[in-house]
Amino acid sequence: MKTDVVVIGGGPSGMSASLEARKQGAKVVLIDVESRLGGILNQCIHNGFGLKHFKEELTGPEFANKLAEKVYQSDITVLLKSYVNFIGKNIVYAITPNGQEKIECKAIVLCCGARERTAGEIYLKGKRLAGVYTAGTVQKMINFYGKLPGKNAVILGSGDIGLIMARRLTLEGVKVKSIFEIMGHSSGLRRNIRQCVEDFEIPLLYNHTITRVVGKERVEGVYYAEVDENRNPKPETEKFIECDCVLLSVGLIPENSLLPEETKREKFVLVDDERQTSVEGIFISGNVLHIHDLADNATEEGEIAGKFAGLKALNMSKRYEKVKVYFSAKISYCMPQLINKKEDGKFTIYLRANDNFLKKYIVVKCGDVDIARKFCIGITTGEMQEIEVEYEKIKGDLFVDIGD
Ligand SMILES: Cc1cc2nc3c(=O)[nH]c(=O)nc-3n(C[C@H](O)[C@H](O)[C@H](O)COP(=O)(O)OP(=O)(O)OC[C@H]3O[C@@H](n4cnc5c(N)ncnc54)[C@H](O)[C@@H]3O)c2cc1C
Repeated sequence: MKTDVVVIGGGPSGMSASLEARKQGAKVVLIDVESRLGGILNQCIHNGFGLKHFKEELTGPEFANKLAEKVYQSDITVLLKSYVNFIGKNIVYAITPNGQEKIECKAIVLCCGARERTAGEIYLKGKRLAGVYTAGTVQKMINFYGKLPGKNAVILGSGDIGLIMARRLTLEGVKVKSIFEIMGHSSGLRRNIRQCVEDFEIPLLYNHTITRVVGKERVEGVYYAEVDENRNPKPETEKFIECDCVLLSVGLIPENSLLPEETKREKFVLVDDERQTSVEGIFISGNVLHIHDLADNATEEGEIAGKFAGLKALNMSKRYEKVKVYFSAKISYCMPQLINKKEDGKFTIYLRANDNFLKKYIVVKCGDVDIARKFCIGITTGEMQEIEVEYEKIKGDLFVDIGD
């Protein structure tokens, strides 16, 4: 098969990337391993999606369907139940229901989403008992298959998936005995802490972790303890709580194993403002690039990657001098890390803070000059921040900081 652009992953980012690449005039093939488009949104039956992108509050499947309808109304080729197992420059291999397919293309957009961190990856102590799940797995069990994980649950980690699942379990009649969070704050959205935990009076213990999961064949309870400033459990504070299932909400890991090694030499996959990686013609967007709290942002990022992948495939992309984006120790992550020095228009820098801040500015500097400033009443580690910058103000490398 031959095409202009191959998009891998049919979640919100992949669908919007496909639509935008097609809009530029490129021929597009969209591939997903699942039997329907939508990605993780299909299992997120709660509302809270779409406020930014569609200006209305939708459930995950409603959000996904809006994009999927547009995909099916276009002449984008959709390959479902098809797993991409290799990508290289201008080449994609997929295992499809009809066998191995080799697709020659001029640009690739990787939109494979993220996977959940597992018990092994956080060295959770205890035997390998039945009843330890990742939170997203339980979400799928309940929402797709109508199965409950147990009767009395504890949750480790207060990321968004854990918070949402605390509410979901409670509504289904499962007693959520406690949520333990090793940090002094949640990494989830404030609205989720309020609507999913506080409204249901579920105990959320900060600076606490599970020290051991115990039971014979199935979980019978967990020991938990307060942690010190180095996040080590204080043995004298250890207590026991009875439960028959443990849900882990301890982070998502971008599913970027398909990317060529040379794109992964840094801690993060480096991209420019067009979402192109260091390998020309390979673009990336959505949770596979960095973890988005909002599907709306993953969708908008897909539009950027899809647009420039389309232009690249049609030989319509322009080359610019690039500048680098550096950031202060108050920031854990900034994206994009390279900016094309274009003459006009705007781009957005996304960032996550290392700590929580009140009444501060996000500042983008070029030399000694502030080229963008944004006042924020509250900045939390859980919420991705964004700041717009005008291309014409860029004279050299950029520095992003949080200050007064
Ligand atoms: C539990 C949970 C609750 C959330 N709640 C909200 C909310 O209330 N509001 C909100 O705005 N956002 C929410 N989000 C965030 C939002 O859903 C994500 O940011 C968004 O779905 C990410 O989109 P994506 O396209 O990058 O990835 P995904 O939606 O994960 O899609 C990735 C797709 O790639 C496919 N794929 C992966 N590898 C391959 C391969 N090798 N070959 C073929 N296909 C492949 C997968 O099958 C999948 O369909 C939530 C997320 C989760 C997990």
